Amino acid sequence: MCGIVSVLSRNDGIIRDLIDCLSRLEYRGYDSAGIAYVDKNSRLCVKKTIGKIASLEKIIDFNEGARCRIGIGHTRWATHGEVTIQNAHPHTSDEVAIVHNGIIENYESLKESLMKDGFVFDGVSDSEVVAKLISYHLKKNNDFLKAFQATIGQLKGAFAIVAIHADYPYMLLGAKRGSPMAVGLSPDSQRFYIASDAVALSSLCHDIVYLDEGDSVVCELTDELRYRILNSNLEVVDRQKTRNNVSLHDVTKNGFEDFMLKEIFEEPVVAQRVFRNFKCNVNVADYRSIYIIACGTSYYAGLLAKYWLESLSRVHTDVEIASEFRYRNPVLSRETLYIFISQSGETIDTLSAMRQVKNMGFKTLAIVNVEGSSIAREADECIHTDAGFEIGVASTKSFVAQTMVMLLLSIQQKSRLNIDGITYTMYSILNDGFVIKALAERIKDKARLLYLGRGGSFPIALEGALKMKELSYVSAEGYPSGEIKHGPIAMIDHQVYSIIIAPDDYYVGKTIVNAREILARNGEVLLITTGKVLANLHDLKKNKLVDHILLKDQWEYSTDPAVDQLLRSWPYVTAIHMLAYYVAKARGLNADQPRNLAKSVTVE
Ligand code: GLU
Repeated sequence: MCGIVSVLSRNDGIIRDLIDCLSRLEYRGYDSAGIAYVDKNSRLCVKKTIGKIASLEKIIDFNEGARCRIGIGHTRWATHGEVTIQNAHPHTSDEVAIVHNGIIENYESLKESLMKDGFVFDGVSDSEVVAKLISYHLKKNNDFLKAFQATIGQLKGAFAIVAIHADYPYMLLGAKRGSPMAVGLSPDSQRFYIASDAVALSSLCHDIVYLDEGDSVVCELTDELRYRILNSNLEVVDRQKTRNNVSLHDVTKNGFEDFMLKEIFEEPVVAQRVFRNFKCNVNVADYRSIYIIACGTSYYAGLLAKYWLESLSRVHTDVEIASEFRYRNPVLSRETLYIFISQSGETIDTLSAMRQVKNMGFKTLAIVNVEGSSIAREADECIHTDAGFEIGVASTKSFVAQTMVMLLLSIQQKSRLNIDGITYTMYSILNDGFVIKALAERIKDKARLLYLGRGGSFPIALEGALKMKELSYVSAEGYPSGEIKHGPIAMIDHQVYSIIIAPDDYYVGKTIVNAREILARNGEVLLITTGKVLANLHDLKKNKLVDHILLKDQWEYSTDPAVDQLLRSWPYVTAIHMLAYYVAKARGLNADQPRNLAKSVTVE
């Protein structure tokens, strides 16, 4: 979501750094952006825009800003208040400027009492209260650090905040409650940064430190740059350094038109890498049951894993959406393994659900893509999915990595898997991308899409519908094929386009019957299937009744036919991702940053 960057430097010219860092955070999704800095005349300067960083750059005078050494920047993903300049960050009050990620839950009562004290608010966001509250405390004790700490102590909610003060151009303050915060020194020790994630600091800091829950950070420039991290009792603490392994390859498009397309092309490589490097101390067979908790695409990875865990390991598996689980008072058990899946490792609902389970003393296993993230650090055990940094807001290669991890957990013996077979299918889909691109042109104006699949194809259908909604803003639903007669079939007419995932598996006969039922009601159908399946459908083919994406399904995914059957639909996810991507492009949309969405969902 929203992003924070800030810098305190021994030398001039930090504005470029702020803008570059903010640009790296664009992938998270945002609606407005801004920076604040203290200029050479010790004045606080603020620049904000609605929309993209490119427009922010246009209103910045880089010459005027050239002599400044302290500044903060923000990309906002509005939660409270419309997308306006007044609600954009940084927020100021007198000489104070702040940036904030997250939500201040008690902002209304704080605002009311500040207004009684004569404070006037420019906008209506929850964040503005933070700047005013620091001012309020400063009026009482005239000490920036103490005023900052007193303010943080009064706030409720999940947040990360960074503050500066024009009279303290040598002091950068940050605090973390619930939202991530990473700090780092440049390799020459000339610049100190506070940011909301490691990507902002890629190529600036080799090592970073993630703050723990309740920590704050104080960075001061005296004869040298020093920083200290304080825990919630305000004791100075050491936090472990982590290598900032976000590489240049991760944050550049490498010739692809979009990050999303680049990341889809990485899917087979990621599958191979996860397979090769997989290590885990947890044996699912030691548990009576498994409970998978996640959101969005990660939830669908969990649903697919349920098919594998139950069939291959014979362990009862439940899968639930984190935002429901955490407020539902579920019945938990010591004999259950609780698995939390999150790409960013910061998804607030998943993190909160995990904390609940952990506090009750039950075993937690995290499956996350970002090392050092909150979920990774707090879980009893963690498997890093090693997909490489994912920039496209819609998860693609992460889904492949998550499901590969879940498959390896389920199958227990790697040797039962023919990884080359799986990745050959993915490569063949990528090679036939032009077919999918051409189909996207046909699909781009369809008003309603229905994704269908049976068995393991059902979670893939759900993933397909989600990707289509996210990227193309088209109404798309995912259903088990066998369920259409219980409702969705009533919708079918010539305006509904059904995308049916029909690999050559146990269920294919039944799935094709469902396709025929739809065709009989004038619905249009796209079959994602193999040449062998299609060859048996002479009538449909001859009458050009169905669109199709044909997969070369001649590879075996396991020497064990039962395992092979379970996996037939899995590599089809590459086709599903490509289709969503190309439909978005055909509709002229930004595939990397779909509207209203954010990469790392750190608010409820
Ligand atoms: N709640 C704040 C706002 O609406 C911060 C949102 C964000 O995290 O970007 O401005």
